[in-house]
Amino acid sequence: MWQAEVRIDLDAIRDNVALLRARTTAEVMAVVKGDGYGHGMVPSARAALAGGATWLGVATLDEGLALRGAGVEVPVLAWLHSPGLALHEGVEADLDLNAGSLELLGELVTAARRAERTARVHLKLDTGLARGGATVTEWPALLEAAAKAQADGEIDVVGIWSHLVHADEPGHETTDHQLAAFADGLAVAERFGITPRYRHIANSAATLTRPDAHYDLVRPGLAVYGLSPIEGETFGLRPAMTARARVALTKRVPAGQGVSYGHTYFTERETTLALVPLGYADGVPRAASNVGPVQLGGKRRRVAGRVCMDQIVLDVGDDPVVAGDVATLFGPGDEGGPTADDWAEVVGTINYEIVTRFGSTRVPRVYD
Ligand code: PLP
Repeated sequence: MWQAEVRIDLDAIRDNVALLRARTTAEVMAVVKGDGYGHGMVPSARAALAGGATWLGVATLDEGLALRGAGVEVPVLAWLHSPGLALHEGVEADLDLNAGSLELLGELVTAARRAERTARVHLKLDTGLARGGATVTEWPALLEAAAKAQADGEIDVVGIWSHLVHADEPGHETTDHQLAAFADGLAVAERFGITPRYRHIANSAATLTRPDAHYDLVRPGLAVYGLSPIEGETFGLRPAMTARARVALTKRVPAGQGVSYGHTYFTERETTLALVPLGYADGVPRAASNVGPVQLGGKRRRVAGRVCMDQIVLDVGDDPVVAGDVATLFGPGDEGGPTADDWAEVVGTINYEIVTRFGSTRVPRVYD
């Protein structure tokens, strides 16, 4: 018998990737960083590959190595490296590694020498996000160094890439500017003799709405898990995660009963309270105190009082809710149930954060 669980519909992940594939002629890199956005990195990766992804994307070297450790053999790009990491382990594991600065390129050359093999490198151009990547000013120097290292057989420039700022707002002019800067950056690279097989810039939103950004490879993350990056549109995606728990106990209380720490909620009349064993240690945002839509007994309920570390309380009125009934915090949204989007809206965050919060907690993840 389970008390609380995070269910992951792996078929949904597979189908979402198949849907994305059908929208592009580019290859699909399923982004599985952040423990697969909370869905479990390795199972999500396998489901994405079953749906037709041919690449996987992660942030850290350790995530890439963990995929290799699990026996995943497809190309994996890892893109976020502080100085001094054991990048040679990534080279030995045949990971594709990002170089977004001269320093990082230098570390990759050193790693290649140490591993005694050619490092697979993706050069990153910062087209406006101002996160990783060489600025337009730094770009020629990075290309020059990369061309030399490639000629020396130390690196293979497999990709040139960038990341978008505003793709989740279709029609935003920044996307046009970034795509133009990316095209310029590719043209400059060509002048340095660098014409990689993979040019990539599209996240989920651009995969779904900007075919002109697809190039050779798209890098969707959120959409893989069935969530939409664009408000009000589902694109036929199916959310893969459901978070739910069984009511631990119910109790009748009189009108005027304060509920949970600080008594920020008072019952209006005699009512039944239902205790749901999921709290902020499990991913429930504390900001959902007195809001959070939870489906129980066929209705959406708000959280009564503060979200605690392990539990929340629902005021279910006179409805015949009993201990053991299943309360669903969010899921695919069928039968009127709440979704991660609903939670994101009420707590003022994005759906990415809601599902990621529910990964790797004490709540068992169960795979369908
Ligand atoms: N590419 C990079 C570099 C990222 O950091 C991310 C995630 O933030 C993605 C692709 C996937 O983005 P999304 O989840 O919006 O599809």
